[in-house]
Amino acid sequence: MTSKIVHIKTFGCQMNKLDSALVTASLEKAGFRLTDTVKEADAVLINTCSVREHAEQRVLSHLGHLKHIKKQKPNVVVAVIGCMAQRLGPELLDDNTVDIVCGPAQIPQIPQIVTSALNEKHKLLSIKDSIRQKPDDQENLALDEFESTFDRAEQNLPGQAFVRVMRGCDSFCAYCVVPYVRGPEVSRPPAAIIDQVKRLADEGVKQVTLLGQAVNKYKYAAGQKSSCLADLLYLASEVDGIDWIKFVTNYPSEQFYDEILKAMADLPKVCPYLHIPAQSGSDKILRAMNRHYTAAQYLEMLDKARSIVPGIALSGDFIVGYPGETEEDFHVTVDLVKKARYKNAFIFKYSPRPGTKADKNLTDTVPHQIKRKRNTELLAVQEKISAELAQTFLGQTVKVLVEGLSKKPHLNSAEGRDNPQLVGRTATDWIVVFNGPPSLAGRFVNAKITKTAPLTLFADPAP
Ligand code: SF4
Repeated sequence: MTSKIVHIKTFGCQMNKLDSALVTASLEKAGFRLTDTVKEADAVLINTCSVREHAEQRVLSHLGHLKHIKKQKPNVVVAVIGCMAQRLGPELLDDNTVDIVCGPAQIPQIPQIVTSALNEKHKLLSIKDSIRQKPDDQENLALDEFESTFDRAEQNLPGQAFVRVMRGCDSFCAYCVVPYVRGPEVSRPPAAIIDQVKRLADEGVKQVTLLGQAVNKYKYAAGQKSSCLADLLYLASEVDGIDWIKFVTNYPSEQFYDEILKAMADLPKVCPYLHIPAQSGSDKILRAMNRHYTAAQYLEMLDKARSIVPGIALSGDFIVGYPGETEEDFHVTVDLVKKARYKNAFIFKYSPRPGTKADKNLTDTVPHQIKRKRNTELLAVQEKISAELAQTFLGQTVKVLVEGLSKKPHLNSAEGRDNPQLVGRTATDWIVVFNGPPSLAGRFVNAKITKTAPLTLFADPAP
């Protein structure tokens, strides 16, 4: 058994964080020791994201940093894994710093690939040649087993775990690279998912978040029986020890929508929170994005969510400065945000991603400064709404699952070592900050809201 030391740096979304956690556990099982210090490592893995240009630039600048380290320590093995590895493949190996390129579908092979590169000092490429080809049963089984074996409670936030219920995406939003780097949609068998949830519950997990690029499209057919996300929610709700179930992220589609909302309303463990990205409020831009709904249909879906699940919290995503977005298009997006009254929204400036339909067929017409201006304006509109919604919590006592120490200094600064500032989230995904002992991490507490900011509720512990 090797005692080599490995360092993993992760960029990107929750899917990537989950992949890194699985890879970490598989490397540990293979005898590697993990380090937070890059200079100490024999192998450095970078789990990459291709969703935005900025994310790829950060990876490239990190590779620049590793180049210096490699000058002093030429035997260190550098592996680029994840979405950017699949997108760029052999091109990345041209960089002298990079020894391994491994796509998301090949992550079960990582311990073996890293061992081989360390022993034999040669470059290795492991990506899927035809990424849109449906994986065969063997490939699905390997990924499923990898997932079930290495998803461990201890790798996540205390008391929480992420469980992937599907891989890939078939939506082909015109701006998005995910279908080209993560392959076609494949839903995992419900039995494997629920076994995993049970095992995580046995390890002390209280909240599971079911993950999928468009998780509401989850559909698994076996013989005559077909299961959707709502079925999974009912099954997961029966698992003893699990108190809260969340799921992200959702594509605005009527398919299974009523069933999912009904499950949310029926099942106390399913948190009343829905992240449902609109991306734009302009029908013209939505068409250009290949998103299959209109702004009016989208708002009707939000109304329906609020009528079936009273008190539901909604959040969204937007892209500003999409090719062809005029001032008028932007203003209808602002209108939609005002009507939607999200708890929060993530707003991004459009950047063309190579290989996507938007990049091939559309010209990036909106100047950068206009994108920036629209981004700032939309954020300000959302912040006002978030602030108003936050204020409705003043004086209320809420249940919070504590994540751990707060990373940022907030109002109510730390009162000392034994009572530092902690952060947690409510069932509706509001961030709550309060002072308390670090031992509360991973536990539910009640907290009385005393102050609010647009994205944060400040609280005192309550009985
Ligand atoms: S639903 Fe659209 S934006 Fe989301 S991952 Fe799939 S293609 Fe990308």
